[in-house]
Amino acid sequence: MNQQLIEQIVGEILGQLGKNPTQLPERAVPIAVSARHVHLQPEHVEVLFGAGYELTQRSELSQPGQFAANETVMIAGPKSSIERVRILGPVRKATQVEVSWTDAMKLGVKPPLRESGNIEGSAPITLIGPKGSVHIEQGLIIAQSHIHMGPSDAVRFGVQDGEYVTVEADGVRPISFRNVRIRVNERYRLEMHIDTDEANAGFITQGTIGRLVKPSEATETACSLPVTDTTTISRPAKVNTPQSFEFTKKLLSTEDLAAISEDEIVVNKGTIVTALAKDTARELGKTITVRK
Ligand SMILES: [Zn+2]
Repeated sequence: MNQQLIEQIVGEILGQLGKNPTQLPERAVPIAVSARHVHLQPEHVEVLFGAGYELTQRSELSQPGQFAANETVMIAGPKSSIERVRILGPVRKATQVEVSWTDAMKLGVKPPLRESGNIEGSAPITLIGPKGSVHIEQGLIIAQSHIHMGPSDAVRFGVQDGEYVTVEADGVRPISFRNVRIRVNERYRLEMHIDTDEANAGFITQGTIGRLVKPSEATETACSLPVTDTTTISRPAKVNTPQSFEFTKKLLSTEDLAAISEDEIVVNKGTIVTALAKDTARELGKTITVRK
């Protein structure tokens, strides 16, 4: 081995050892991906599955006491429905349905981004079980990403309950999650929860390890102000001059719509807008106008 090569190897090893502190393993947070699911209040279990019915456990979840039930329901929105949505137990005070934005587009609904349990003024949805159906006026949300941890983990990371942090995940498509809420409870096990859209965006699979970064240490300057009603992130308040998106392709499909956040989509005269795209735009409150 020549001197140059030895120096190169030594340099690399030193480089590894000297990595910045956010890369150290004690910053590691396992990431779990939550698929769409339903939490039910006791009365709704009976409406959907019959009087006196109780949920049965299929498998334990990572957070102590929580389980995936054998039971599933269909959820229905104005545009379509999704079958076999898993119920998570035990029963809760108020029925809550958690879906991804992709699911919401399919269902034709506009749920807000919320922390689990905060359903006041959220979106309506219909649940259909083998024995009956329930329509809830609120309870449909897109879950805000969060990290469960015990008090000792909180001390170790130097974070507090309710604080927002950034989590970076490396991989073939590296991604960084901002505004991740810390949830501290003695019964919690260290785990970050994201939904399927967030996971897919970063090619994240169950058990991927993320790195907790305090916003001040993040590579980019993260939003340091906690957002109380995160609805504003996905849907900016309407202003006098609505934001418009200049669409230049020949065909506007629902997939294109999904990628456009603006409320107004301006298309060329010859652009073909599929019937489904027109419907979806209406459901989402977007207007499609033809460029003059
Ligand atoms: Zn969770």
